[in-house]
Amino acid sequence: MGLDQSALSAFFATQGERPFRAAQVMKWLHQVGETHFDSMTNLSKTLRQRLIESSSLALPEIVHEQHASDGVRKWLLRLPDGNAVETVFIPETDRGTLCVSSQVGCTLNCSFCATARQGFNRNLEAHEIIAQVWLANKALGCFEDGERRVSNVVMMGMGEPLLNFDNVVQAMRIMLDDNAYGLSKRRITLSTAGVVPAIDRLREACDVSLAVSLHATNNALRDQLVPINQKYPIEELLAACRRYIDCQQRRRITFEYVMLAGINDRPSDAKSLIRILEGIPSKVNLIPFNPFTGADYRCSDQTTIDAFRKRLQDAGLVTVTRKTRGEDIDAACGQLAGKVQDRTRRSLRFTQFPGTRVHGS
Ligand code: SAH
Repeated sequence: MGLDQSALSAFFATQGERPFRAAQVMKWLHQVGETHFDSMTNLSKTLRQRLIESSSLALPEIVHEQHASDGVRKWLLRLPDGNAVETVFIPETDRGTLCVSSQVGCTLNCSFCATARQGFNRNLEAHEIIAQVWLANKALGCFEDGERRVSNVVMMGMGEPLLNFDNVVQAMRIMLDDNAYGLSKRRITLSTAGVVPAIDRLREACDVSLAVSLHATNNALRDQLVPINQKYPIEELLAACRRYIDCQQRRRITFEYVMLAGINDRPSDAKSLIRILEGIPSKVNLIPFNPFTGADYRCSDQTTIDAFRKRLQDAGLVTVTRKTRGEDIDAACGQLAGKVQDRTRRSLRFTQFPGTRVHGS
């Protein structure tokens, strides 16, 4: 499930088979949705038998499915080790976006995010990442009628995708492959809190669209909101963004900015944001803060958000306010929790980002 074209070709080579078998099997798996080797009728009987004996396909189990009143669907997937992650489908008139998780929990400890409260257990394997796309296609009936309901993927679920680099890249290669989901690089967006060296590696490995969770315009505040900033401060992050965009023609970086009342939503914050993004082809995505039990923040009010957006727009920055979707089933940004069997020792989290100060604690 998680083998991309080259890995699958290599596998078939070890079986004495020609490389084109990889494309055939990928089509069966990811376009037809067939998981029984026996039914893959363009493979020889002997090969099918050998696959049955040598290989297995493991898919997570959907343990819970919720429909929001606005059409958003959320699935809770149980992994064989008892952990669980969430995947969210967001239908819009012109597209369908799937929000995919990359880790069980998260190590980054952003002070306004529900996933952070869950602790961290482990990275998802490539097959567990791509299985989210497969299961969504299955649940939405896409294998039956060939309709592409999942037209976009955002790596914005639980976890920090750039801290699970190899598995995320492998899974994205399958999303891009014409023998599998055939999405274009523009339709896959990876969101990062700012793992600077990995942004450079991503540019080389798989330059999908990049979104950056900025949320603050000075290091003192960003150190609190997004503690990884203590390791990779804003200037280094923006320099990496410039390097990323230099290699891509006609593309922009999306900067996510969560609207927190009284924290980062003043006119002076808008002014600083305009200043620090100068010269970077950008799109700003204002995200109304989604509250969760135990959160220390409030969302900025609508008038403040509108005024903030207008300031950015007037300065020529493409700015949209992200519509909050799936709120009634806790599927909105920062609300994904899943079920994490936390193995993180707190001390470990703190040695990773020394001096972490969590807002309100
Ligand atoms: N770790 C990656 C991927 C997660 S994407 C990253 O940080 O980019 C999830 C997005 O939702 C991020 O921009 C995150 O900062 C934002 N978010 C987290 N908690 C939120 C909340 N309570 N309300 C609104 N947005 C939130």
